[in-house]
Amino acid sequence: MAYITLNKNNLFYNFDIIADKTKSKDKVAVVLKDNAYGHGLCEVAKMAQEYGISKAVVRSHTEAEAIYEYFDYILVLAEMPQKADEKIHYTINDIKLITKFPKGTKVELKTNSGMHRNGVELEELENAFALIKENSLDLKGVFTHHSSADEEGDYFSFQKQNFSLIKQKSKELAEQYGYTLAFHSANSAALFREENFDEDMARIGIATYGCLELPSSLPQIDLKPVLSIYAEKNSSRILEEGDCVGYGANFKSTKKQVVSNYDFGYGDGFLRACSNIYKTPENVSIAGKISMDNSSFLSDKDELLIFNDARDIAKFAGTISYELLTSLKSYIPRKIV
Ligand SMILES: *Cc1c(COP(=O)(O)O)cnc(C)c1O
Repeated sequence: MAYITLNKNNLFYNFDIIADKTKSKDKVAVVLKDNAYGHGLCEVAKMAQEYGISKAVVRSHTEAEAIYEYFDYILVLAEMPQKADEKIHYTINDIKLITKFPKGTKVELKTNSGMHRNGVELEELENAFALIKENSLDLKGVFTHHSSADEEGDYFSFQKQNFSLIKQKSKELAEQYGYTLAFHSANSAALFREENFDEDMARIGIATYGCLELPSSLPQIDLKPVLSIYAEKNSSRILEEGDCVGYGANFKSTKKQVVSNYDFGYGDGFLRACSNIYKTPENVSIAGKISMDNSSFLSDKDELLIFNDARDIAKFAGTISYELLTSLKSYIPRKIV
């Protein structure tokens, strides 16, 4: 059975670099949505707790429940609560939803600083605070999300400026209504672009997993990928010159050589765009198209390292490490090494 290894030393190494940048472990909220970027929700939650991280960010209530015991604070990004909870904060993504939250829910107000995806506008803040008070919600934070922190250009600073106006206005309103607020805007790329991080928290996903990519014009951060995936051999055979491998007979052998079939296919998360072109970190070439449950390589190893840096394989598939990692199915065994 194909399996995933999670390198704990690398994870802790990344946490060291992240916590150094935020100046405190307490300001790091590890983003664990989508099965911890494919790494395994509970596996990463446990290791983050062991390291001393006390905050997590997830998409859903179900994810929050699964990791409840490991953290003091959990922010749910996109699901309405059934009831108020001590630890779990829920996001208000739209001013129209404020009346729908159960009384007493700990909420954080998402604001739109330029991404135009979710959140209330600067001009809506007064109304939003009034509605939050009227509906007896417990407002704990105001935040925003960057669209372009990992890209060159001015959009990142444009959003930062907008968020500083939002913060200013929110501070006035918080005083008026008697709320104590935490402010946060940074994802991985935004944190590492800050000269001097001064917010209350940073929401760190991809840097945790060691796959942050910044444009070459920006200072590079040396993080270490945490996840590797290995596949096991189903069978081997000798190809003669002219023999074809796999669906569509796409690969045609130019010589006598060994080919083996391994138990990792597109149904497991091996993006099919890697068919015909992929080479493993050990320079082993794929042979032909990726099948649903398996793929063939020019190798006779019993166990084959498929990848150990999602950024590299993502390039073969013409995508980003985020998509590649979150495609990995949750049933693949995860081993901590
Ligand atoms: C996914 C997500 C993050 C983490 O982004 P990275 O680029 O992986 O660090 C932070 N904040 C929000 C709102 C997100 O949805």
